[in-house]
Amino acid sequence: MSHSDNPTTFFRGLSSRLATNTGAQGGEGNSLITQVDQDRHSSSRRANNTNAGGGSGTGHHAAAAAANANNGRGASTNSSSANTAQASSLIERVRQIRGRPKNTSPLDAAAHPSLLPPPLPRHVGKKCLILDVDETLVHSSYVQPARYDLHLNIALDEMTNVNVFVAYRPYLFEFMEAIAPLFEVVIFTASLGKYCMPLMDAIDKNRVLGDLRLFREHCSVLSSTFVKDLSLLGRNLDHVAIIDNSPVAYLFQQRNAIPITSWFDDPHDDELKQLIPVLRAMAEADTVYDVLDNYNALLQLQQDGL
Ligand SMILES: [Mg+2]
Repeated sequence: MSHSDNPTTFFRGLSSRLATNTGAQGGEGNSLITQVDQDRHSSSRRANNTNAGGGSGTGHHAAAAAANANNGRGASTNSSSANTAQASSLIERVRQIRGRPKNTSPLDAAAHPSLLPPPLPRHVGKKCLILDVDETLVHSSYVQPARYDLHLNIALDEMTNVNVFVAYRPYLFEFMEAIAPLFEVVIFTASLGKYCMPLMDAIDKNRVLGDLRLFREHCSVLSSTFVKDLSLLGRNLDHVAIIDNSPVAYLFQQRNAIPITSWFDDPHDDELKQLIPVLRAMAEADTVYDVLDNYNALLQLQQDGL
């Protein structure tokens, strides 16, 4: 597996960088790129005013600023050409992402009842974090695998029961404990409630994540696939994020996405753990986009091998 398609390696570095950046900026999650952009624009203005330097000098300035911000240190004069190219690519990618619409749902949310009830008092002011289940938090199968954590016998109807064997993604419980106080958490699966309810009841016996659960019937169907239309939740999209292994799930609100690789049985996977600092930063930011635009720009660059 190459560096570019090894998401575990990628997330490890990315999460720590984001945590460093956002922490250094006092929780203002977008300040890294904003500052770099501002630096670039001000540098450009200076260059134009003096007719000195021109574009290459401007680019170098931005790259140095981004490189410095990326490694969490202050001013530095030591930036390699690789860092220069990487920083320029990052800035451009963030700009592209910020130029995209927040919401491309074909539905008018105002014409639909909200999927969620009004927030509980303890959730007022918190952002809403949507969690997928299958291949994000767990992997379930009808065939008994060598290792599993939970066995469910589920009644599909009065005549039919099925055995389901569930394996928990590593760090599931640490992840739940970390995010529970930070967000209004919603379990949102494209699977059936008769499977998800007993599953989540078993995983979250003490309802650490609360009671908000949405199922297949709450999805929008697009070309036989299930889309989780975040505009229908009844929450401000500026304050909503979704963690889902399936990109089609967040097709209508891609800037609200926190992608995660599909998990099946890798005991060394640590993506849930690595997301915690990103989520902590997002919880503190003004909007989810302040963190996620940067995060997804870095993710895309890594996937492109840049
Ligand atoms: Mg899934």
